[in-house]
Amino acid sequence: MTNNPLSEIAEAIKNGDDFAVIPHVSPDGDAIGSCLGLYQILLTMNKRAVMVCDSRMPPIYSFLPYAYDFGSPETAGRKKTVITVDCADKQRLGGAGKLFDAAELTINIDHHATNDGFAMLNHVQGETSSCCEVVYELAKALGVKLDEETALCLYMGIMTDTGRFSHSNTNVASLTAAAELMQYGFDVAKLNRQVYSHFPVSKMRLLARALNKLELLADGRIGLIPISQKDMLEVRATNEDCEGIVERIRDIDTVELAIFIRQAKDGSLKVSMRSNEYANVAAIAEKFGGGGHERAAGYTSYWNYQKTYNTVVDAALREIENGD
Ligand code: 5GP
Ligand code: MN
Repeated sequence: MTNNPLSEIAEAIKNGDDFAVIPHVSPDGDAIGSCLGLYQILLTMNKRAVMVCDSRMPPIYSFLPYAYDFGSPETAGRKKTVITVDCADKQRLGGAGKLFDAAELTINIDHHATNDGFAMLNHVQGETSSCCEVVYELAKALGVKLDEETALCLYMGIMTDTGRFSHSNTNVASLTAAAELMQYGFDVAKLNRQVYSHFPVSKMRLLARALNKLELLADGRIGLIPISQKDMLEVRATNEDCEGIVERIRDIDTVELAIFIRQAKDGSLKVSMRSNEYANVAAIAEKFGGGGHERAAGYTSYWNYQKTYNTVVDAALREIENGD
């Protein structure tokens, strides 16, 4: 894949107008933060811009500035330039892929090492903590002065992708970017409360149910939890309520590799994986058509539960044996 330098991306943005910024489906904090951040940067530059996402906005992020500006692929018209953020492959745009295909210019800004460079211009920093950190660098390359609200969104994505500055992607660069963004003056403590201590009770009830279903394999080095639609309906849980369960599995002292399998409404299975020290979960995810990072990756399985379970456990056991 050819990686276009940030200066080239900045030049293309300066020369363009009429943008759509698109994050991946089921957007997480980093996807939403980089989308909102880049959107505000474009507005600051007096560009016409929209944000389009093929998933509904998780309510937990609705407090963010401009969160209600997200449109759906059905209502968004054709745009000259489409910029994807935090999106490792074109499929992860979901229905917004139509807009991407219709654009005159496509730009892919990301931080997933597995990104296949699916756009006309690609800037992928596989070693960077978050897409928000890349967007912050882009703002510098554009010479755009940020405001407090834009800084808040970018900080939020760095914070969530680094697990509140605790994962292995926390480094001098991510902390420096976060510290610089903090200088714009937003309330960091309030932001933390809004993102991490403001859950509906359904999330807690689902967590209790999930922990009861925990299965440990390979002397406790692999932890696995399945959640079905029935489980979710019984506690009135949403997909967002499932977020964070896989990290709870990884918190167990014996666990190296955590697997969370969630049944979606259409019957497909969303597999999320995390590892602590050595297991490469991106390699497992890629085997099944997904991707991600060495310590956090996922994919969607269209096999039935038993086959999905058998194949992912088999791959996890091999990965554990390899790295051990
Ligand atoms: P999560 O488990 O939180 O859904 O995702 C963890 C990481 O894996 C994220 O960085 C995400 O982008 C990546 N990931 C999750 N699901 C998929 C998928 O279906 N395809 C790809 N390419 N990456 C995924
Ligand atoms: Mn990310």
